[in-house]
Amino acid sequence: MFIRLGFLIAAVSAHAAILNERFNAQQAYAYTAQVAAFGERWPGSPGHKKTEDLIHQVLQINGARIEADDFTATTPRGTVPVHNIIGKFNVSADPKQQILILAGHYDTLFQPGFIGANDGGSSTAILLAFADALATQKMKMQVWLVWTDLEEAINSFTGDDGLYGSRHLAQKLAANGTRSRVRGFFLLDMIGDKQLGVARETESNRPLQDVIARAAAQLGYSQYFFQYQVGIIDDHVPFIRAGIPAVDVVDAMYGRMGPTFDSMGEFHHANTDTIDKVSQRSLEVVGRTMLLTVELLDK
Ligand SMILES: [Zn+2]
Repeated sequence: MFIRLGFLIAAVSAHAAILNERFNAQQAYAYTAQVAAFGERWPGSPGHKKTEDLIHQVLQINGARIEADDFTATTPRGTVPVHNIIGKFNVSADPKQQILILAGHYDTLFQPGFIGANDGGSSTAILLAFADALATQKMKMQVWLVWTDLEEAINSFTGDDGLYGSRHLAQKLAANGTRSRVRGFFLLDMIGDKQLGVARETESNRPLQDVIARAAAQLGYSQYFFQYQVGIIDDHVPFIRAGIPAVDVVDAMYGRMGPTFDSMGEFHHANTDTIDKVSQRSLEVVGRTMLLTVELLDK
């Protein structure tokens, strides 16, 4: 009887584990390695298709409501089919239920030999690990995981080149009236590197950054967040322009910095952005902090 009771308690508490403790960093790293091993993942490539299949598979296993946001983008390299993938969790019958969005891009740069283990890989993978954590969790709000496509510019981030998927989705949410229900949009980008330091991105929503800072402090991770400021053009920008409070959770410095390197460090948009540059610990710090942020906002 005693053993039976103990077993029951263990089973119940495992099921009711709080959201941020359900984040499996080892699995997040394994997903990063799996996605990086798919190779180049620019739209139309075999690696891109394999990534889409993996996202669908993980969402299905975890019982998400899957939605596609597909369109054809006009780019400097001609028309490109774009597939944003949305996995919705905890959808209630309430048409006014509030929404939190966690997003990240899954495409990689059109550059021969570019793997993007951190840039494209880590964001894809941390969202997959979020899907595993969110399965069966009951909350007040809906949580959407959004894998944006064609974030990377075909040539360079000038004018209308780049952010194709996010621009399309942000305009859609504004046009169909969903915008007013979105409490926060959190973009994750390049958060798996071995020298983790999330920037205080200057265009991002300050009150939402403060919630992230509170979550980080609670977990003992303050040193990894908001120690430097920088403005970045990323997938959060179209959502800010659409009137949605948004934050770019991005590490904008990795490896050697300086005039002879890319402005975001030596591995940024370099073919050396490979799996050995990614850290399970960094994925854990960001993953748990963002899931605790979701918990704090859901109160
Ligand atoms: Zn990039």
